This record gives sequence, C-alpha cells and structure tokens, in this order.
Amino acid sequence: MFFPLNKKNVALWRNVTTLGLFLFLVTISANAQAPRPDAFPPAPDTLEPKAVVMANTIEEMLTWDKYPTYDVYVAMMQQFADSFPTLCYLDTIGLSIQGRLILSLAITGSSDNDLYRPQFFYSSTIHGDELTGFYLMLRLCDTLLRSYGSSESITKLLDRTRIYINPLSNPDGTYRGGDSTVALSWRFNADSVDLNRNYPDPFGTPPLDSLQPENKAMIDYVEQHHFLLSANLHGGSEVMNYPWDSFTSFERLNEYSSWWKQVSKRFVDTCRLRNNRLFRNVSPTGYINGGDWYVIHNGRQDYFNYYHNMRELTMELSISKKLSSHLLNHYWQSQAQALINYIDEIHHLDDTLVSIPTRQATSFKVYPNPTRGKITVTTPHAQRHYDLGDRPAGVYFIPVDGKAVKVIKY
Ligand SMILES: [Zn+2]
Repeated sequence: MFFPLNKKNVALWRNVTTLGLFLFLVTISANAQAPRPDAFPPAPDTLEPKAVVMANTIEEMLTWDKYPTYDVYVAMMQQFADSFPTLCYLDTIGLSIQGRLILSLAITGSSDNDLYRPQFFYSSTIHGDELTGFYLMLRLCDTLLRSYGSSESITKLLDRTRIYINPLSNPDGTYRGGDSTVALSWRFNADSVDLNRNYPDPFGTPPLDSLQPENKAMIDYVEQHHFLLSANLHGGSEVMNYPWDSFTSFERLNEYSSWWKQVSKRFVDTCRLRNNRLFRNVSPTGYINGGDWYVIHNGRQDYFNYYHNMRELTMELSISKKLSSHLLNHYWQSQAQALINYIDEIHHLDDTLVSIPTRQATSFKVYPNPTRGKITVTTPHAQRHYDLGDRPAGVYFIPVDGKAVKVIKY
C-alpha cells in the first residue's frame, strides 16, 4: 500500500494546522516510537540481485520459485477446481478493462458435520506490482486443497469455513507488460487508476475517478456474499494495517481496534517464529492503525468495513513489492501458518457476536417468517432482509451494523 508521497508528513502538517499544538505533540511522540527503517537489518531481498523468473507451465509453477504467466495462473486456478471438485469451485468475480479474468476459488470441506459455515475472503494485488500476495494466495489454495484429509487442523478449518481466495484483483496492472511476464507490472489498472483510491468513501469524499470495472465487480461480488472476515494483501512494506485508514486513532477509533490489535499481533508473532526480522519497518509491534501510519481516502479497507460490515485487514507482506523469485519460498515458509491461522480468526469473533434465535428478539429486532424463511434484522442504523428459505435448518452468521448476528433457523 505504501506510496512514495510522504503522507505521514502531510498528515502531520494537517494535524498541526487544524488540531493545534496538543495533537502535534501527540503525533511527535507517536512518531518517536517508530524506529528508522535502517534500525533493523536489511530485508533479505535487498541483499540479492533481483530476478523475476516466470513459470510457463503449471509443472514449473509447482516448484514454487517462480511467478506464473497469466495463462499459467488461469490454468492453475482451473486445475484446482478440476482436481478437487468436492472441495472447491472457480468463480469469476468479473473482468478487467483489458478483459482479463478476476478469479476467486471457493473452498470448503466436503464434510456435512457443520450446518453453518461463515464466509472468509482473501484478496491480493489490488496494486498490480505488489506480487508477493499473488504468489502466496496461489500456494495457499494448493496447500489447503492438498492437506484436506491429511492435516487435522486444515481439515477442521475447511469443514467449518467457506474460504474464498482471489489471488489477483488487478490483472491488467500485474500483466501490464503482456501475459508472459510480471516484470513490467505497475501499481495501477489499465486506465492508470489506483484501485485502492477508487472506492466510495464512507465519509463523503468522492474519488477522483469514476468507479473502475475491477472495483465495481469486486463490490458486486462482496454484496453477493456474507463475508465476515477478509484481508487485502499488499507489498512495499511489512505491517498489519487495521481500520480506519481515513482517520488517525485519535480522530476516530475503530470499534474493534482492540480485537484488531490482538489478531494482528498473533499474525506477526507467528511469522516471527520463523523469521524475527519480519514486520519491523513501520512499527516495532508489526501492526498499526492505518491512519496513524498515513491517512488515505477511498481505500477498499474502509469501504468494506464501513458499508459491508466485513472486518477487512490490510496486510503488507513484504518490503520489496517484486520479490526476487528465489525468495518467494522463504516468504511462504515464514507466513503460511499465519495466513492459515488468520482464516480461523473468523471463529473467534465472539467478543462482538450477538446471539439471537429467530424466535426471540433482544436489542436487535428480528422478525422471522417461519413459513417463507425470511427474516428482517433492524438496528438503529440499518435494516437487512435475508431469505433463509432454501437453506437447511441450522445456525447462520449475518453481518449487520458492524456485528455478526447469529441467527438460528429451526
Ligand atoms: Zn498496495
């Protein structure tokens, strides 16, 4: 997500001029805690000459030390679906401006031992040149599918979760130099728009450009699902960036900020068990309130957190945006467990869960219609209608007004 403009300085200037000396002192003291980037050993990638090596076949990709060509990427996603038809299917979120596919692999266990499965979403590389997450997501698909039935923890995770993985949300940016290479990738889409500055702003600032096709498709896709937890994967830095991006924590604190800190800490600490140098270039903890790092508007994170009651985290996974191919495996080895564990966090939202059997009403008003299976959930800020008519009896999680409302259908 990092952009060369020094936004921290911009935010600092704005704080000084608009909020006065008190906030100035707060900002200075917050900045004083952040070490200079050179206070830690250089990231491995800066020690080696860069080489972007492409895989031209699925077999070459499966050595996991190369980036896929566009054709290999699409073929690999299709092969996952073909090879594991009881565990996954391939969804098309939409098309890029140049007609490339924006894909999502939907994965869940084949067991029917759980009636309800909350929906999780990983999405990567909205900035086309931030490639680490693209690679990690492909490998995560491969690992989840191959481990089902042999790994007890992954089998359990898949049997209780619907996992949607979109490895590449800006394919035109990644394959700007043509389908055969990612070496010429850039940040923007084919219309030179930064897709992470193009979402409707919850707080009233219209984006500079009209809503781009890639983002329109993404919004439609999210509206078709009930994702409770998600992450958007970036590169260029190493930090967990939690909501809000539009505000400093002093200006407006996210209602789940303490939960975000716990989740982010677990992610970072899990990675550091493998490589203690990771996630140190922005804050010593490895996580930060987005706006405290630098304020942005029209980003995806705030849009989905605010409008869709999803909890979306921005993960900055490597200081180098285009990792040398031979380092990709190193990042997988360091981060795979944390990426898997983050999915499981969807089962630990309990501190904010509101449990409402449909036959009762508590602080939320729930109007069940048992004959048609339709319910309406009304809160002071929102009214949502859901049709559970064709779903089996069981427990469902419904995102309403920033909370996951647990609804039981009898
Ligand atoms: Zn980015």
